[in-house]
Amino acid sequence: MKTKLIFITGGVVSSLGKGIAAASIGAILESRGLKATIVKLDPYINVDPGTMSPLQHGEVFVTEDGYEADLDLGHYERYTNIVTSRRNNFTTGQIYNSVITKERRGEYLGKTVQVIPHITDEIKKSIYEAAEGSDVALIEIGGTVGDIESLPFMEAIRQVGHELKRNQAIFIHLTLIPYIEAAEELKTKPTQHSVTKLREIGIQPDILLCRTDRDLTDDIRKKIALFTNVTYDAVIQAIDVECVYEVPLRFHDEGLDDKIVELLQLWTKRPNLQIWADIVHSYKTPKDMVTIGVVGKYVDLRDSYKSLHEALTHAGTALNLKVNIEYIDSEAVIEKNDVKTWESCDGILIPGGFGERGVAGKIETIQFARENNVPYFGICLGLQVAIIEYARNVLGLEDANTVEIDQHAKDNVIDIMAEQKNVTDMGATMRLGAYPAKLEAGSKIAEIYGTTEISERHRHRYEVNNKYLPMLQEKGLVISGKNPELDLVETIELNDHPWFVAVQYHPEFKSKPTYPHPLFFRFVEASYQNKQQRNN
Ligand code: GLN
Repeated sequence: MKTKLIFITGGVVSSLGKGIAAASIGAILESRGLKATIVKLDPYINVDPGTMSPLQHGEVFVTEDGYEADLDLGHYERYTNIVTSRRNNFTTGQIYNSVITKERRGEYLGKTVQVIPHITDEIKKSIYEAAEGSDVALIEIGGTVGDIESLPFMEAIRQVGHELKRNQAIFIHLTLIPYIEAAEELKTKPTQHSVTKLREIGIQPDILLCRTDRDLTDDIRKKIALFTNVTYDAVIQAIDVECVYEVPLRFHDEGLDDKIVELLQLWTKRPNLQIWADIVHSYKTPKDMVTIGVVGKYVDLRDSYKSLHEALTHAGTALNLKVNIEYIDSEAVIEKNDVKTWESCDGILIPGGFGERGVAGKIETIQFARENNVPYFGICLGLQVAIIEYARNVLGLEDANTVEIDQHAKDNVIDIMAEQKNVTDMGATMRLGAYPAKLEAGSKIAEIYGTTEISERHRHRYEVNNKYLPMLQEKGLVISGKNPELDLVETIELNDHPWFVAVQYHPEFKSKPTYPHPLFFRFVEASYQNKQQRNN
């Protein structure tokens, strides 16, 4: 195999930003002219994260080919030109699934099937398949060194390192150098232990990425190098930054990419990271602020709306505005009848969601935005609830509902598609991944996209019931986009409102800092105009 491999492991604690580190390295390597790919190996037993609550594991990211993926794939796509697919993420559950399937088929020819070599071989096979066709493949291992769960993955990558030549695969370890207030000192001991743990498994890291909240002194760097057997110039500081898109710049300043290409003996041009410098500059020096209320039920964990949060930020950066995102709990809103919460928002967004909890609050929120000319952007459930609100309050269909909440709703304005009716498995059975939509020429959304043919990613089970379209249209709701093949509603808008657009798909998955999604851009822009008008 010609592809060079970079394995990334994490130590000491979780949440050090391995995903962003991998994505940032990907960005710099692409800027050096290399074709990169990034793969995430997740040690949990779920076959994919699709069935996990966003409050447990953060957002479920959706790929073009309809795989429900770990949110790190979102980072990979935002920082690089990589279009990820199901090849870019696999879990212990998947690995065991395929080994057990082979065993049942008798493919192991009577052998005892074991973690080593059968599970590890399957892991290696998946790594090689995903790496194929790129100059460099970054392989991020989920979890923290020392976890029981990740051991088969660690063993598999150790074997890969052993099988390949030295300049073919390297190991990067992300670790934490905590500052202890009482001693007024940065401490290297947790890192020493973490590397010891790695070496027990047989992996000697080539590069250490040291997360820290302050500059590492020369002495500290020397000490880390000495105790971990990593060369001094491969002890790389990964300092906390205000803007996540600063990470590629900082890594480059630290010489990380030079070290990587030296170790892998890759000959490349110098990187040009100006675009990241411009993004960071705009982010740090906004001309003004705009407040967007995101009304949802997973508001307690920031990561549950990761791509959405980033997409709003990308739009803000492009408009040189600081986007102040207020996460509003849709249940609390209605309990407190908290009109003030809405009134402080220049624009309101309702993102995707599942189940009944919080829907009543969302209906009231949309009514408020619609009647008070507040820019409204609905995504997935945010479209479905906008239809329910319109049916109830404009068409007078009091019982209008989605069958997700009320199976026997008299007016089932949101219904389940025939092909979904017989589905019993919850995993990977929704309308998933990229689907085309045809936009109505002359509609607001066609103008926003600058085209009438689009493709966006989906993740939902329910659809607008076409039976109600004539009634809705008669009362002014504009059906501005449809899936031509399946004849399903994709986008709606209102004419007698400054900015009211809702979409059945998830545009946030395709927004990047280098390519802010036009819907987010125009929504934030409209919200800012609303702010300026209110202030006048
Ligand atoms: N729960 C709705 C459905 O399954 C919406 C899903 C979503 O918002 N992603 O259709």
